[in-house]
Amino acid sequence: MKQAFVSQPADPVADPRRGVPSVERVLQELGPSALPRPIVVAEVRRTLAALRREPVQGGFDAAVARVRAALRSRSRQRLQVVVNATGVVLHTNFGRAPLGAVATAAVAEVAANYGNVEFDLEAGGRGGRGAYVEHALALLCEAEAATVVNNCAAALVLVLRHLTASRREVVLSRGELVQIGGGFRIPEILEASGAVLREVGTTNRTTVEDYARAIGPATGLVLKVHRSNFFMDGFVAAPPTAAIAALAHERGVPFAEDLGSGAVFATDEIAGVEPEPTPAEVLRHGADLVTFSGDKLLGGPQAGIIAGSATLVAALKREPFFRALRCDKLAFAALQATVDAHLADTAATELPVQVMLRASEPDLRARAERMAAALSVYPVSVEVTTGPAEIGGGCLPRSAIPSVAIELASKSLAPAALARRLAEGDPPVIGTVARGRCRLDFRTVFPSQDDTLVRAIGTALAGGEAADGPQGA
Ligand SMILES: *Cc1c(COP(=O)(O)O)cnc(C)c1O
Repeated sequence: MKQAFVSQPADPVADPRRGVPSVERVLQELGPSALPRPIVVAEVRRTLAALRREPVQGGFDAAVARVRAALRSRSRQRLQVVVNATGVVLHTNFGRAPLGAVATAAVAEVAANYGNVEFDLEAGGRGGRGAYVEHALALLCEAEAATVVNNCAAALVLVLRHLTASRREVVLSRGELVQIGGGFRIPEILEASGAVLREVGTTNRTTVEDYARAIGPATGLVLKVHRSNFFMDGFVAAPPTAAIAALAHERGVPFAEDLGSGAVFATDEIAGVEPEPTPAEVLRHGADLVTFSGDKLLGGPQAGIIAGSATLVAALKREPFFRALRCDKLAFAALQATVDAHLADTAATELPVQVMLRASEPDLRARAERMAAALSVYPVSVEVTTGPAEIGGGCLPRSAIPSVAIELASKSLAPAALARRLAEGDPPVIGTVARGRCRLDFRTVFPSQDDTLVRAIGTALAGGEAADGPQGA
């Protein structure tokens, strides 16, 4: 049928006025779907409305094909597992840190049951929310106290709101007026918190004297923001944490450092990785509070951790706003297992972020070579290459861990087209296109995904969506 809908008024199943089929007729033709019926109906309505505005050639079959494509797109928006072959270990678009097996099991168990979320089993009554994890985090950070909110941005907002409630000014270096990821700009967070920014120094150089001149009766907080996602080189200077802390204390003003990445281990143990200040180090150097993310180098769930002075942490928890930022039991369960792993010294083998960062080049190479051999039956040229992998997620921007990848080149498919087909597969495989090839980095692929990856590549080379079920649902 090669005619526009508008030219088939006699079609009994079509809308007699505009030639677009009825919702019922299309639903019948689609048959059963894995998606809930209201989702399917909404997609049919939306597609048919679009066809009414802008008819296409092809009649009923084309309309159904359009609806199927729309359902496939909708279905692909559902949260699902993707194979991360980008080499970026903490990829914000992929949900940053994958959880370890112990944390995952803890989440599943607590999720399916009741838990002592804020119940004191000793006293038999209402207790502190997350009391154990707060205690464990305080130990891990060598802090008097710690608490947890929804993410690091929330942690920072809470700290700012509390400490600038009466004295509004926050003293911050111009070199730290940064943007961290999408939609997180320090000056905007300050503004949203009701704080007034008092910028000091210049983009590339700030001295202790700059801070000293800016601190006055209106200063509520001196803030340092760790440059976690970029670096500056050349004619650059910023006072160390200890110097700023000493000055702030001399003037009786609290000092907080936003670390972001939350490395609680010596990152420079890992080849190619620069040293990163730990929360414990920052507190030892005199910060009153430190804030960091749960799902970056800590390797846990999305969370914002605040550690430091017991008085300040207790006051933060009394803020009415704290209630709006709290974590759910799933985050607590995952964080508890993650923090326990750090304290028990099992993090290096238990937390996927660390396992990935520590994977040796020869091990990665062996996997890449096995995969290259498995792919020899397909019409694709495969080259095993080495190159740097990034940590990502706004962490350790200067670090480049040596990594191993396979680079695919197909005679019939452009690299970007092959990458697109891999991304459209089931499961979606996300690689990169570099030097005219489709590149799949092994550092971020779980060894258990290697067989899946071989099949996904085979399917992509064979034409794309074969692995998708009917309607891709
Ligand atoms: C990543 C980062 C944040 C934001 O953390 P979220 O947990 O994503 O809210 C804040 N500050 C710094 C320095 C960061 O690196």
